[in-house]
Amino acid sequence: MTLTDVIEVLEAAYPPARAESWDAVGLVSGDPAQEVRRVLLAVDPVTAVAQEALDWGADLIVTHHPLYLRGTTTVATTTPKGRLVHALIKNDIALYTAHTNADVANPGVSDALARAVGLVGDLVPLQPFPDDPWRGLGRIGEAPEGTTLGEFAAGAAKGLPRTSWGIRVAGDLSRPVRRVAVSGGAGDSLLGVAAAAGVDVFLTADLRHHPASEFVESGGPALIDAAHWATEWPWLDSAASILHASGVTVETRVSATVTDAWTRGY
Ligand SMILES: [Zn+2]
Repeated sequence: MTLTDVIEVLEAAYPPARAESWDAVGLVSGDPAQEVRRVLLAVDPVTAVAQEALDWGADLIVTHHPLYLRGTTTVATTTPKGRLVHALIKNDIALYTAHTNADVANPGVSDALARAVGLVGDLVPLQPFPDDPWRGLGRIGEAPEGTTLGEFAAGAAKGLPRTSWGIRVAGDLSRPVRRVAVSGGAGDSLLGVAAAAGVDVFLTADLRHHPASEFVESGGPALIDAAHWATEWPWLDSAASILHASGVTVETRVSATVTDAWTRGY
């Protein structure tokens, strides 16, 4: 298989045209003609992940987050990102990013998150595209009947990979939870959409004090704040499955390296 073969599959599932205008998705390093046998999937293009790719002999790393999101004038080894670029090129490891185009895909990042935290039944976008009701940001699904907020939160913590952050809950733990909205990554831009959707709880990451406090004070849905990395990690398996189902003959590995920024809680 060539890198081009693998990219074709990824771009059919996660069309780059669906990425946000500020985003930077697609091939970051690598030669489209190079051979790809081993694909490592990870959330973050960081040193620990590059080392894992080297140790395993990966030819391609597929990450959710872009390496460079803003303009840069150097890839010298005097910067962490420059060192990463050098390590990748010296070892013939390509890097490819599917970010907001994977968020809005069907299935996308929030579908995998919804299943990981125990949602059942059909999933619909929390904020669908005007031209496509089955694609868009976030997902709404259902918790099993009779679930309380406390039970749902405990199940979500169990279903997500372990981080020092864990999950935090805002709301009455005995509150019944049926309709649930989730959004992988920083989802505070969707707080208003979640409230308007009339869900019982909204689970996302990177929530700040004031928006969260005001949201809960207004009597809207309960909130669950998870570690950013943990909310996007479940998608990696889904992306690996898409590669396998496509018939491209590559070996895949989902990185279990925890690359959440927060490494210890006290
Ligand atoms: Zn993210």
